[in-house]
Amino acid sequence: MQPFAFVHADSVDDALATGGRDGARYIAGGTTLVDLMRLEVMRPRSIVDITGLPLTAIEDMRGGVRIGALATNTGVAYHPLITTRFPALVEALLSGASPQLRNMATVGGNLLQRTRCPYFRDGVSPCNKRAPGSGCAALDGYTRSHAVLGTSGRCIATHPSDMCVALVALDATVHTRGPSGVRAIPIGDFHTLPGDHPEIESALLPGELVTHVELPASAFAARSRYTKVRDRASFSFALASCAVALDLRGTAIRDARIALGGIATKPWRAREAERWLLGRATTTDNFRRAAAIALEGASPRPDNAFKVELARRTIVRALQRGAS
Ligand SMILES: Cc1cc2nc3c(=O)[nH]c(=O)nc-3n(C[C@H](O)[C@H](O)[C@H](O)COP(=O)(O)OP(=O)(O)OC[C@H]3O[C@@H](n4cnc5c(N)ncnc54)[C@H](O)[C@@H]3O)c2cc1C
Ligand code: SF4
Repeated sequence: MQPFAFVHADSVDDALATGGRDGARYIAGGTTLVDLMRLEVMRPRSIVDITGLPLTAIEDMRGGVRIGALATNTGVAYHPLITTRFPALVEALLSGASPQLRNMATVGGNLLQRTRCPYFRDGVSPCNKRAPGSGCAALDGYTRSHAVLGTSGRCIATHPSDMCVALVALDATVHTRGPSGVRAIPIGDFHTLPGDHPEIESALLPGELVTHVELPASAFAARSRYTKVRDRASFSFALASCAVALDLRGTAIRDARIALGGIATKPWRAREAERWLLGRATTTDNFRRAAAIALEGASPRPDNAFKVELARRTIVRALQRGAS
């Protein structure tokens, strides 16, 4: 591991003053950052410890919830405001990683976790995300875990987070503080597509700190579910996952949210499929049609072509659970 300076931030102002320096990175639970520093995939010159900042609260917000960036994944998953209002978020968090990791991992760190593409993590293969301009080993490599939606000719890596998929379905907003003030970023705009610059993964500016996430009250949050398919149940990243949220009158769909994970380069909102469901009945045939629409733009490779059908079935299952 390359030597680095360690700075403990006593206040948000303190964190911003040091986190804005060239080559600096914030550290929260450390479950992504330390891993990647050990692999020398990330080589910060200094790390700014933000664990002492007062950003852990989970509070009511006019029927919605405000979650501090340093709330742990465990703390969020078992908090009464979340368990009673946002079941999809609970299911997503508890399907991620292991209990030990969830005790360390934070909301801010989960938002900013990095891809599990093996070529990115091996530290030597050409990888436009790790070493911009070096190429993409996955394009001619083994792609079972890679994305089928949102890919570019420069990167086809999957976004790994479960939590973020639920946040997309629940219309979350990410709040930040940075050198130029505070910002509220809708979750759908927070993560960026790889395009020509896969090394840029979010709308966050250098030195900007995620302070909290807000989940609004909505008619569909109570009927939200997260369904994840993976190689092993103990802990594994998603091969395909789906968060849904439904507002129903009887069996008629008044409003719907569908977000996908494990198959796309960012947490993926299936807007066309949502629109198609409006006013229709909660039948399996309608769910299958919506799932087909959600995958219409998929561009699979031979190793991950199975994900298209897997994702369709995951969507149908998630919608059935949401409607039941
Ligand atoms: C073995 C293993 C299995 C896993 N399985 C899953 C899984 O199944 N599903 C899943 O979703 N995830 C999984 N994860 C990933 C895990 O959820 C993330 O590592 C974790 O959420 C990161 O949170 P952290 O607080 O530890 O982040 P850190 O490692 O501290 O930070 C991660 C990144 O976020 C930045 N950062 C952190 N907080 C802030 C902030 N407030 N503002 C700005 N930047 C910030 C850091 O600078 C760093 O770049 C797994 C991880 C491991 C090691
Ligand atoms: S898919 Fe993306 S992360 Fe993986 S090797 Fe290619 S550029 Fe790197």
